[in-house]
Amino acid sequence: MRGDAVPDDCRACARCCFSESPEHVRVFDGDWDRMDTRAQSFTSRLDNRRFMRIDDGRCAALLVDVERGTFACGIYEKRPDVCRSLDRGTSICVDERRAKAGRPEALLIRLRTGADET
Ligand code: SF4
Ligand code: SF4
Repeated sequence: MRGDAVPDDCRACARCCFSESPEHVRVFDGDWDRMDTRAQSFTSRLDNRRFMRIDDGRCAALLVDVERGTFACGIYEKRPDVCRSLDRGTSICVDERRAKAGRPEALLIRLRTGADET
């Protein structure tokens, strides 16, 4: 990725899939109904609400290709509406890229050096 320009492919970025908040991505009833059991396994419940589960600072459904240094949503066809509505290049995307700069890179370093067992 060059500077903080919008990447051509979100697989080079993935910053919007990173968060420390257990309420980062809400899973509404319509999302839940669309999900298969595998996608549902990446969710968690808080009170009476569902969210994508956060594991080690990132969505549990996020796939990491350590060798290539790329990322992919592991439930892309079943992902929640919140994720579907986040278009690359929008103000939310820009905010996410600014706020979470370095997180994917730091994860890749941890995985490549064996400092992370996931
Ligand atoms: S939508 Fe924006 S923040 Fe999310 S992965 Fe794509 S470029 Fe990155
Ligand atoms: S469901 Fe997919 S697109 Fe949405 S935060 Fe998780 S990995 Fe990212």
